[in-house]
Amino acid sequence: MLTASCLQCGSDKRQAKWGKNRCGSQRYRCQDCHKVYTPEPMVHGYPLSVRQQAVALHVEGLSLRRIARLLSVNARSP
Ligand SMILES: [Zn+2]
Repeated sequence: MLTASCLQCGSDKRQAKWGKNRCGSQRYRCQDCHKVYTPEPMVHGYPLSVRQQAVALHVEGLSLRRIARLLSVNARSP
């Protein structure tokens, strides 16, 4: 079952598996707009969405410890 949705057009239909990237994350190709993308690249063990949230909260002035608690991740993880 595919859970990916296209980063460019947002479609979650017709998303074909398209090999893996360097880190071993599954890549997909959108058959609608032909964009090849990685839904959630695992960087330092956390999905990009979590990291983006963490960065946004950090910009707001929250401490890393507080952010980790909010996002339910371990701040001491690399
Ligand atoms: Zn698309």
